Amino acid sequence: MFLIDYLIFFFIGAIFGSFIYSFINRQSSELESANISIVSPPSFCPQCKKTLKPIMLIPIFSYIFLKGKCWYCKSAIKSSYLFYEILIGIFSVAFFVEFDASWVSVLKYIICLLIIIQILLDYRFLLLSTNVSILIILLGLGLAYLDTKISVIDSFIGLCLGYTSLWLINFIFKTFKSKDGIGSGDFIFLAALCSLMGYKLIGPIVLGASLISLLIYLVSNREKQLLPFGAGMGIATLSLIFFL
Ligand SMILES: [Zn+2]
Repeated sequence: MFLIDYLIFFFIGAIFGSFIYSFINRQSSELESANISIVSPPSFCPQCKKTLKPIMLIPIFSYIFLKGKCWYCKSAIKSSYLFYEILIGIFSVAFFVEFDASWVSVLKYIICLLIIIQILLDYRFLLLSTNVSILIILLGLGLAYLDTKISVIDSFIGLCLGYTSLWLINFIFKTFKSKDGIGSGDFIFLAALCSLMGYKLIGPIVLGASLISLLIYLVSNREKQLLPFGAGMGIATLSLIFFL
């Protein structure tokens, strides 16, 4: 790859990073039952509520040009915006260094971004989006059809096994403790990840997820007494995609 390729992949990633950040914030606003969705209203300043012009939405550059302040009311723009843009930008460069540029890789890249959304949602709000999981299932089955790595049958068995295994563990837990041990969002997300990776990788995903989520729990000093298991599953799967 040439320098210009790195820059292009970084910039594409930064655009997705900006989009992912607003998506996650809008999910949290939805939780607070404000009338906000991913498509409407258009991006606005959270302070003065003025709609932002397209030029103010260019990742990284607009932050630098506006010196980290809103054009209208001069209130500070959250630096976490910039952080997400740079983070996903670096991820994109790493992804296209690792994988050749093909339509299968592009599909894989989109799936990785969806997994990143779930990781961040679960990490921040202990929430997994069912719609995002369903999208991963459809793309995972599609990838199994296009890619030769796993068969559609492996993918489909993974889908069923991923869902039922966590459902069963939760069912046993519920019988003894009379409360849910695992959220239903986790069942669907594991189903999605196993449809992507094939049923043979359910063990490494669940084991990796347990270790990673426990680590996140221990180092992040969280108030809530819940493990971000979905975030763990997502990180374990991304590692398997990269290093397997
Ligand atoms: Zn403003």
